[in-house]
Amino acid sequence: MKVLKFGGKSLANGVAIQSAIQIITAEKKKGEIAVVVSARGNNTDELISMLDLAQKGEDFSASLQDFIQYHKEVLPTLSFDFEYTELFTLLNAVKIIGFFNLKIQNKAMAFGELISAKVVSALLNKKGVSSQRVDAREIFVTEGSEENPFVNWEVSASKTKAYWENNPKGNVAIVTGFIASDIDGNTTTLGRNGSNYSATLLANFLDAEEVQNWSNIDGLYTANPSYVKTATKIASLTYKEANELAQFGANILHAKTILPLIEKKIPLVIKNSFTPENSGTVINESGQGKGIKAVNVINNCALISVEGKGMLNTVGIDGRI
Ligand code: ASP
Ligand code: MG
Repeated sequence: MKVLKFGGKSLANGVAIQSAIQIITAEKKKGEIAVVVSARGNNTDELISMLDLAQKGEDFSASLQDFIQYHKEVLPTLSFDFEYTELFTLLNAVKIIGFFNLKIQNKAMAFGELISAKVVSALLNKKGVSSQRVDAREIFVTEGSEENPFVNWEVSASKTKAYWENNPKGNVAIVTGFIASDIDGNTTTLGRNGSNYSATLLANFLDAEEVQNWSNIDGLYTANPSYVKTATKIASLTYKEANELAQFGANILHAKTILPLIEKKIPLVIKNSFTPENSGTVINESGQGKGIKAVNVINNCALISVEGKGMLNTVGIDGRI
């Protein structure tokens, strides 16, 4: 089985969503697949903006209508009444109380991925590719603090396997990225860009042979092409090299993305859904050649040097700095 993950830009209205559907259809013809979707377009940011508006007591209804209308444009016959009512009720409650917390934010953000899976699944079904939505909150379980949840691999793996065993084969599973739930059933998230992690976890749990990460970039580059004109695409990297880039700001790779792949040696292919003929970047065990592969930059970062004799043998300096 192959796991195909699509980022928000690759699922946006217009040519993006159409070409994503084409890619899914073509891959399905080649063999068994599962699809992991991010929220479409800028939906996650839009949901956060609506929460901000509501918290300030401002009118969010026009934004909410635009938000829903965006999805209706792709498939006018698909009803989003349920999602509209749920979001309206949630936002209105925030407006009345003038407050929201992470729990409420997670609940709202989840609609980005839930709607995305609904749209993709409906478009596939319309094309004659039978598919089925999977709400990842039913298979991925997180633990730990609210701010910093981590996935319980054991529980999530067994729930995922059970789900796959009990559901009809042949249907393409369209899994919501990014979201999970805690032991009490509250919605949690895997952090911004977390759908990449959802995809590699799913691949690990289901022993997939490959993960394809479809976004709007051709692959990983030797440097950020918007800063360095001579940067070139990297054909192949090892897990270790890719993980290094993920830790230092390569957005395409959420910091935890690589880990689930290593144990089972599952290759990750980064591909551009707008130019699918491009070979992309392959991340696997062997990589290609030695030496420095890429240079990265972290923005908005300051380095402060503090020195002085008084610091010698003084405990607690770091904390005071
Ligand atoms: N929709 C979420 C975000 O924008 C997760 C993702 O895109 O991977 O961060
Ligand atoms: Mg996104």
